[in-house]
Amino acid sequence: MSDIFNERVMCSKCGKEMTKRVFERDGFKLRGWQCECCGKRILHPADEEKYKDFKRIKNKIFKVKLRMVGNSYAVSIPKEVISFMREQERLASRIVKLCIEEAKKLALIFNEFDEAK
Ligand SMILES: [Zn+2]
Repeated sequence: MSDIFNERVMCSKCGKEMTKRVFERDGFKLRGWQCECCGKRILHPADEEKYKDFKRIKNKIFKVKLRMVGNSYAVSIPKEVISFMREQERLASRIVKLCIEEAKKLALIFNEFDEAK
């Protein structure tokens, strides 16, 4: 089955062909089309669904335990989070970056395939 993103999309207002674009919302990338004439935007339906999933998972608090493993501590990241990250970032590496963002806030940064080192 061919993806709708390969199709030509016409603006219903202007009747002109719309340009393929990648829009960004909250760091989330969505494919879509934009009319150069009137600025109208259409989002790829599959990406719009994924964005809805993202909104559901965003800011959700997961309570996880800190475990001692050798000289380090480990936390279990819920499967739901990993599946989401994998899908969005096409995560290929098992290496993530970790940094203290605020005094009580630790961030995990999932790399995109080409920067995963
Ligand atoms: Zn238009």
